[in-house]
Amino acid sequence: MINQQRLLDTFLALVQIDSESYQEGNFHAEMVSRLKKLGCSVFVDKAGKKMGSTAPGNIVASLKGSVPGKPFILSAHMDTVSPGKAIKPCVKKDRVTSDGTTILGADDKAGIAIILEILHVLKEQKMPHPGVEVVLTLCEEMGMHGAKNLDYSKIKGKDGLILDNESIEDLLVRGPGKYNFNVKIEGVSAHAGVCPEKGISALDVLTKAMSLMKHGRVDAETVCNFGVISGGRITNAVLSELSLQGEVRSLNAKKLEKQLKHMKDCFAKAAKAFTKKVDGKIIKPKITIDAPKSYAAQNLPKSCPGVKLALAAARKHGVALKAIACGGGCDANVMFEKGLLLPNIGVGVEKCHSTEEYLILKDFYKAADIVLDTLLSYHG
Ligand SMILES: [Zn+2]
Repeated sequence: MINQQRLLDTFLALVQIDSESYQEGNFHAEMVSRLKKLGCSVFVDKAGKKMGSTAPGNIVASLKGSVPGKPFILSAHMDTVSPGKAIKPCVKKDRVTSDGTTILGADDKAGIAIILEILHVLKEQKMPHPGVEVVLTLCEEMGMHGAKNLDYSKIKGKDGLILDNESIEDLLVRGPGKYNFNVKIEGVSAHAGVCPEKGISALDVLTKAMSLMKHGRVDAETVCNFGVISGGRITNAVLSELSLQGEVRSLNAKKLEKQLKHMKDCFAKAAKAFTKKVDGKIIKPKITIDAPKSYAAQNLPKSCPGVKLALAAARKHGVALKAIACGGGCDANVMFEKGLLLPNIGVGVEKCHSTEEYLILKDFYKAADIVLDTLLSYHG
């Protein structure tokens, strides 16, 4: 049913239109034009302007269904990581690679090519099908900024698929939620040679907090890490200021909140431990914590249509698709928080985010068949 040659041609054309994050303008225009030609009504939100992208916004394109019910969502992201300029795809016997100087851009243009091919098939084969809602986002690679600023009021569907995973045997149904965790510790400076006891070392406060804190692998579902530390200029003064950046992730929303509170408590206890009286005056460390939520955890029920139907469609095509958890975040996490149930399906890509990225042709074609069958079996 899928036209493999056309699918490949579409893919090769898409990767040759540059769209590194924040510079998706030309690619965006091409998508709007192609989606309209394929019979969709196209809405563009204002997210792009807000984020400083050369594209005006995310795309929500709707194709009317010929059977009643809610539309089925197919989503992918338009941006690529760098180096993603002037990509020259090389078609080999069983795969497509870049020329080695750039990424290939199959993440996520393989997903977009599949979505466009499915719209072609629906148009020319006149088969009964549910409505389709195509959601193409900006700036996913920079922290899902497109999905975070998407105008969800324009989306009518609830179930669907995100096409943004590597292996066609993996269906991502759970992903961790994440907080960034930035701490500034201000101690009290004092001459290290003359009166160190009159100061409070920011380093002492930090080591105390860390000795109280569960970090690294916290439990089977939760991890916490500090990866950046900076502070200090001279050796003959008590270290008066230090900053630390880290993150906490958990597959379990409650555990994520609990660990975040625990981390804050540890710093508060450490600050208390170093509060003291010097020359009749109370001095204490000042701790400033900035912990913005990066994204929420995704936890799709096994019974939701996107998961159930994709597993069945894969079986039909001889692919042992497994519903699994992943360690990172993607648009699916952000959209889950907004009520959309979108497992993330693989499209046959390997070594994403590197100049060795490649697309396995037989898996790419199979993924297209699986996504099409999943869509056709949906009765929203
Ligand atoms: Zn991606």
